[in-house]
Amino acid sequence: MLISMMYHHVESDRCSNELAIFEQHLAYISQNFTSVFPTFEQLPNKPICLVFDDGYYDFYKFIYPLLKKYDLKALLAVTPKYILDDTDKDDITRLRFEHNDLFKEYKNATFCTYKELQEMQESGNIQIVSHSYSHKNLLEDDANVEEELLKSKELIEKKLGNSVESFVYPFGKYDQKVLDETMKYYKYSFRIGNAINKDFHGINGVIYRIDGDFLTTPDAIFSFSNMFKFRLKALTKKITGN
Ligand SMILES: [Zn+2]
Repeated sequence: MLISMMYHHVESDRCSNELAIFEQHLAYISQNFTSVFPTFEQLPNKPICLVFDDGYYDFYKFIYPLLKKYDLKALLAVTPKYILDDTDKDDITRLRFEHNDLFKEYKNATFCTYKELQEMQESGNIQIVSHSYSHKNLLEDDANVEEELLKSKELIEKKLGNSVESFVYPFGKYDQKVLDETMKYYKYSFRIGNAINKDFHGINGVIYRIDGDFLTTPDAIFSFSNMFKFRLKALTKKITGN
């Protein structure tokens, strides 16, 4: 059984957790699970794959230090169109925008810079993966699916010298055609969906993630009743095939 989690911000106006609860949540995870990067090899006991979407600057500022503190591994899914090489903007500027304005304000370094991504990658705690080139819904008519998939991978690999094997669907949107295309370039693809996977083969080829934004307590998301619900969803998805 593999749990994968989806998170975005801390201390923001949307898709966010309060930092204090989030730290306790990570402490709970470090005591009860083993965090892993995607692999088809044998998984440890109670594996969990933490995935942070979009790569906002608050990840580097607040979340990355906690992941190091609790020695947790996590994926950070980024969109190269909005990533600057480096910045001289101060924290107040970079953190002052509301969630909905972060993409259009990207020149204010509202996302992690390549310099920061490099540092996090070198720590060994963070794996940088693709979340498309421009955060485009890949099901929209005008989406250039090949470019979103391939250009993002090539740019990240060129800048960071890593190998990008995981793709996180923007808005969680895909269909079978998009999935087939994704699998040409990536080993692992992630969606939203509040279900539990058996392993990194996912369910019908896609890894489902549990929504970890808006935590009310450090561990309620892992309650017996929630886990039952997430397993039932997995079973339903497996049977219905979508
Ligand atoms: Zn996103």
